[in-house]
Amino acid sequence: MVKQIVKDVFFLGQKSEKATKDDMQVITDLKDTLKANRDHCVGMAANMIGYKKRIIIVSMGGMDVVMVNPVILQKAQPYDTEEGCLSLDGVRKTKRYKKIRVQYLDEAFKQHTQEYAGYIAQIIQHECDHLEGTVI
Ligand SMILES: [Zn+2]
Repeated sequence: MVKQIVKDVFFLGQKSEKATKDDMQVITDLKDTLKANRDHCVGMAANMIGYKKRIIIVSMGGMDVVMVNPVILQKAQPYDTEEGCLSLDGVRKTKRYKKIRVQYLDEAFKQHTQEYAGYIAQIIQHECDHLEGTVI
């Protein structure tokens, strides 16, 4: 189901809870909502559509990758940049890392550890911040 994007600062400022197999609906809604916003959105965290669960979705070259309970294990090569967010007007300055190593569960709750670099790594960092209640 396509959900409305949450812009409530108080709600977005709260930490998300660990996701479980009971949260499959969140995954479906994230996919549908990302598709509906495809032209101006490359990733989303569950709390942006009203679920305080640790699930993100990241658009990676035509494929939408769901990450359940993602943890950034390592980060390297910091740089300063500016980002926007669907839940926010305008852009904000932030510090990101060029290379990261992430552990997450896929949609089938199978565990993966994967390295990412560049733009994809930046999106993952942005969405993981949402899980901690940080909007950029
Ligand atoms: Zn965002």
